[in-house]
Amino acid sequence: MNAFAHTICQWYAAYGRGLPWRHTRDPYAVWLSEIILQQTRIAQGTAYWHRFMDRFPTVDALAAATEDEVLRLWEGLGYYSRARNLHAAARQIVAGGAFPDTLEGIRSLKGVGDYTAAAIGSICFGVDAAVVDGNVYRVLSRHFGIATPVGTSAAKREFTALAESLLPKGEAAAFNQGMMDFGALQCTPLSPACMDCPLQGSCNAFATGRTTLLPVKKTAAKPLERRLSYVYIRCQGETPIRRRGEGDIWQGLWEPYVLEEETPAFPGMRPLKSVRHQLTHRTLLADFYLLETPERPQLPEGYRWIKETELDHYAKPRLFELLLEAL
Ligand code: SF4
Repeated sequence: MNAFAHTICQWYAAYGRGLPWRHTRDPYAVWLSEIILQQTRIAQGTAYWHRFMDRFPTVDALAAATEDEVLRLWEGLGYYSRARNLHAAARQIVAGGAFPDTLEGIRSLKGVGDYTAAAIGSICFGVDAAVVDGNVYRVLSRHFGIATPVGTSAAKREFTALAESLLPKGEAAAFNQGMMDFGALQCTPLSPACMDCPLQGSCNAFATGRTTLLPVKKTAAKPLERRLSYVYIRCQGETPIRRRGEGDIWQGLWEPYVLEEETPAFPGMRPLKSVRHQLTHRTLLADFYLLETPERPQLPEGYRWIKETELDHYAKPRLFELLLEAL
């Protein structure tokens, strides 16, 4: 066994948390704990785990329950999709005849991702698969001095490969649980207990004074702001619209007269409303105007004059609809 894994396993034997589902290798009990703990703190999760184990001691009992019963018992934990998936997966397991014992089989259960599959597989069936969660990222990034921003797919690949390479064959359960607990109790996010850490001598972050700098978090890109001015031009019952070109988020949709990062200057134009429209990677700040005019103004190429009553026949982006509502 490599020195790192040896230290983690030894530490786990001495200081690992004696959580109730750690006293069993029953995959049902372990799976239940993993699903509950996905978005819940240990103390609260433990109470719910007991509740579920009392009410539904086996996967058959859970599968036989109605969804309503399961949701009621879950009440207070939030993220109810977890409860629905739990119930659906219980029925999947019963239909399959037994709890799946391979990574692929476990991964195919509703609501089970890579992390949960590796945890159940290693703890209950001795599968040599490494778990990689926030605790594992932190411990590995500090100990090995890895500055790849976590939360990226590159980091997932890198940290998973590293954890797999460190995982001692046949000892996956102790190593994985050791990593989780070590991250939760020793190498904590804000104040790692470096002074009495058994990995201190080989820890890169400690040696280089970077314990507070690692792991590197991916900074969420600030959404870009784009300012648009929409002018609804009304001229004798007609209005000009134009189709958005290729390579555009609104490709193929029709829009009224629009200026970007510029304020239109038509005499007699009236401001209607300003709206903020959030897209995934940008914020659109749109000002709506109305221009009622007896004569068609000069417009750039590409605009087509149509009857206002025909606007319904044209596919429009959300902002154009908002403009029409504002009219
Ligand atoms: S020395 Fe500090 S930073 Fe390094 S592994 Fe131990 S607790 Fe974490």
